[in-house]
Amino acid sequence: MRLVLTLSALSLLSSAALAQTPTAPTAQTTPAVAATPAAPAFTQAALPYAYGALEPIVDEATMRIHFERHHGAQVAGLNAAIVANPTYAGKSLEALLANASTAPAAIRNNAGGHWNHSFYWKIMAPSGTGGAPSPELMAAINRDFGSLDAFKTQFRATSMGRFGSGWSWLIVKPDGKLAVGSTPNQDNPLMDVGDFRGKPILGNDVWEHAYYLKYQNKRADYVDAWWSVINWNQVSKLYAEAAKP
Ligand code: MN
Repeated sequence: MRLVLTLSALSLLSSAALAQTPTAPTAQTTPAVAATPAAPAFTQAALPYAYGALEPIVDEATMRIHFERHHGAQVAGLNAAIVANPTYAGKSLEALLANASTAPAAIRNNAGGHWNHSFYWKIMAPSGTGGAPSPELMAAINRDFGSLDAFKTQFRATSMGRFGSGWSWLIVKPDGKLAVGSTPNQDNPLMDVGDFRGKPILGNDVWEHAYYLKYQNKRADYVDAWWSVINWNQVSKLYAEAAKP
């Protein structure tokens, strides 16, 4: 035991010396003095409800696969992409999005996917529990779209108009007005790409993986049914935060 401790202490001393002498050979370092592995930069928060909680609108199997495999893979992919591109280490998710235009594709796609899905889980809630738009949000919807129904009609058309994979969004623009739009793949309005930019307060995943098991090719049925699982309390909270001067 004494010998082990002594070697360990020597190793630590050696490590300290190496740290201060960059030109020293590193072959002498041992696993015992390897740096403690850093915790993964990004982790997946728990789903705020059970996998089956949004049935029958979002079926349990879709929710499980979507959360564990699709979103889970994006979190793992983002952490791996940062290891492969260490200049991106230590940056917040928001900072990665704000600089997505110059980032490697693996950073852009996985950072977007991680942010988008984390957002999406929270703006949904079991039917009957999500409340209603706040008076302030309702006033803004009426001001910028004419009515809640007119907003939903525009959001539906945008969701249906996204060819291939992507997201549809309700955002607060820099000028404080609401706008509906769509982004391809895992892009989002927080990225420094495209013309549709602002703070998302509602968003729908229109990738086929979000609905195909239950709705097959009928994206419109998913988009229409989805309104009954909106967490308007969360959307209203996001609006209040985004609309602050
Ligand atoms: Mn998805």
